[in-house]
Amino acid sequence: MSVDVTVARSLREALEALARPGAPTQVLAGGTDLMVELRTGRARPERVVDVWKLGELRGVRAESDGLRIGALATCAELRQDPLVARGAALVAAACAEVGAEQIQARATLGGNLGTASPAADLNPALVALGARVRLVSLAGARELSCDEFLAGYRRTLRRPDELVESVLVPTRPAGERCGLRKVGTRRAQSISKLVVALALSVEGRRITALRAAAGSVGPRTLRLAGLERALVGAALEPQLLRAAALRSAREDIAPIDDVRSSEAYRRQVFARVLATLLGELSGAFACPS
Ligand SMILES: Cc1cc2nc3c(=O)[nH]c(=O)nc-3n(C[C@H](O)[C@H](O)[C@H](O)COP(=O)(O)OP(=O)(O)OC[C@H]3O[C@@H](n4cnc5c(N)ncnc54)[C@H](O)[C@@H]3O)c2cc1C
Repeated sequence: MSVDVTVARSLREALEALARPGAPTQVLAGGTDLMVELRTGRARPERVVDVWKLGELRGVRAESDGLRIGALATCAELRQDPLVARGAALVAAACAEVGAEQIQARATLGGNLGTASPAADLNPALVALGARVRLVSLAGARELSCDEFLAGYRRTLRRPDELVESVLVPTRPAGERCGLRKVGTRRAQSISKLVVALALSVEGRRITALRAAAGSVGPRTLRLAGLERALVGAALEPQLLRAAALRSAREDIAPIDDVRSSEAYRRQVFARVLATLLGELSGAFACPS
């Protein structure tokens, strides 16, 4: 089957190509997902719009309310960017966990969001940071929280005529502590068995704010709403943190048995990883006993 490819030279040209009625069209960024999907036949677009050369979707800049990251920012770029290190270090930490260096050189932020894979590593970091995605089309622009945007298993709220243009990571509260843990079969080139991301603030001996998200433990990137409810305002008691992590492993997530892991393993390891991360970030304890 032949595919009609438009190599867009401007954002306008890309949006016009996406707005053309008719045949199913797919956006191509770094291609690390889409080329695999095309080769295996899991994706069968009749038209592809290649956006890789669009300067309008590149770059990182500070705005009044946070850090704006272009959709085409690659994992390699984000790992090295000083603005990201200051304003979205959790995203840089997630980028370090993606594939290996060759993949990181092409894999983009917009592509990670675009796949809406439950195993995507950047998306839990974006949800934990309360990041917002900006979508553009010929009709204008709109913003959604990344949490809303990642609507289901490999399903987003992007309309076919829209592109992911950028992501805004809101300005971080002073003293916030962030952390991410991925569990895979190997250190590199391995898709997550689970990934957990936390953004937490502590005052005195109390947790004052917490956003938490996880991947590979449900049909989509999941916000850990029960954990957040249980711990915001809670005292930094090791027992309490461990109990909240165990409850979250029972109630916040919906893992399955699949080629990478089992439901039972994921629930057990999730609870330990979450408890360890909570303990390390809050300073309540170094490791769970
Ligand atoms: C060997 C290997 C290892 C990998 N390891 C990991 C890993 O450890 N962790 C991980 O998270 N991922 C991993 N991946 C998956 C992949 O690298 C990431 O999902 C990456 O972020 C995809 O970005 P991309 O630019 O290559 O996307 P593409 O492949 O170009 O596109 C992916 C999807 O997003 C859509 N899309 C892309 N950009 C936009 C946009 N601007 N607007 C709207 N839609 C868009 C495309 O239409 C497509 O549906 C791996 C892939 C490979 C091949």
